Amino acid sequence: MIPASVQPRQIPATWQQELAEAITQPAELAAALGLPLEALAALDGADFPLRVPRSFVARMRPGDPRDPLLLQVLPVAAERLEAPGYGPDPLQEHTAQRAPGLLQKYPGRALLIATETCAVHCRYCFRREFPYAAQHGEGGRWREALATIAADRSLEEVILSGGDPLSLSNARLAALGQALAGIGHVRRIRVHTRQPVVLPSRVDAGLTDWLRASPVPMVVVLHVNHPNEIDASVRAACARLRAAGVTLLNQTVLLAGINDELTVLQRLSQELFDAGVLPYYLHALDRVRGAAHFLVPDERARELAGALVACLPGYLVPRLVREIPGAVSKTLLTPSAAVPCGGA
Ligand SMILES: *Cc1c(COP(=O)(O)O)cnc(C)c1O
Ligand code: SF4
Repeated sequence: MIPASVQPRQIPATWQQELAEAITQPAELAAALGLPLEALAALDGADFPLRVPRSFVARMRPGDPRDPLLLQVLPVAAERLEAPGYGPDPLQEHTAQRAPGLLQKYPGRALLIATETCAVHCRYCFRREFPYAAQHGEGGRWREALATIAADRSLEEVILSGGDPLSLSNARLAALGQALAGIGHVRRIRVHTRQPVVLPSRVDAGLTDWLRASPVPMVVVLHVNHPNEIDASVRAACARLRAAGVTLLNQTVLLAGINDELTVLQRLSQELFDAGVLPYYLHALDRVRGAAHFLVPDERARELAGALVACLPGYLVPRLVREIPGAVSKTLLTPSAAVPCGGA
């Protein structure tokens, strides 16, 4: 049963309104979950503050301070612990900048920081300290980035990222998409977004019209970490995306205490498939300051990946990868061999 306090006071008319009504105070989150504030042990005054839409809170288990969705969004004191090897820019992204807001690390594809805004603040986010302000080019947000893409025929794919690119209005997305599709050598546009999951109402008619009308194929990579994130509203949002002709993939971050169990990862792959989404990557944690308590040791990660290989059809096994600054692609962590299904 969903506590009355989680339910929107009125049904929000638009996703923008739902976003504006997101929970930003730990006390309000505690009340919504029927927990005393002390049970959350929330960190007050976090630099990267609490932010979570009510529809996502409605998928948390009331009364459970260890709920896997809650732990992804709740600021806690452990974030203040200094841990060796954890810093503000674990991926050395400043070395990958080709133009303001445009990062290229790998051949053939470049990533556009389309916005800094997200509907949710994920505690383990590797861009939680990203210097977004330095990404605003002069004279028109994307002018230099678009000129750089247009001048480089090797760039066949543009990835809209952020922040969450679906924080932009449909009109701004359409303008950006039109500019990109107008560059002859851009063959695919990819959108990395968590919004269809944390704010399914974002997948509105304007968005699907834009995706359907795109002259180049659109790939949407969702970000789901736990099967409890997928409810009927998310399945419906995925169905609308698929009906618009989009290829739907998912990436997951492996997180201690949230999804570092075989049964959880197995169920996640199955429920993603039921929603029309194929698992793409299982990411080892990026060592961003404040996230050390989420680390799953490599040995355990490889064991889990090995067990997934044993339990699932190959197309439901995400690739376990880590990002190593300077590498030519994400780096595969080999699944442990001969872990039987159920052995992890
Ligand atoms: C992760 C990433 C990509 C995407 O890599 P794929 O292996 O194609 O999914 C592209 N550009 C940048 C800058 C990235 O960080
Ligand atoms: S939605 Fe993505 S970019 Fe935004 S806080 Fe979460 S992980 Fe980071």
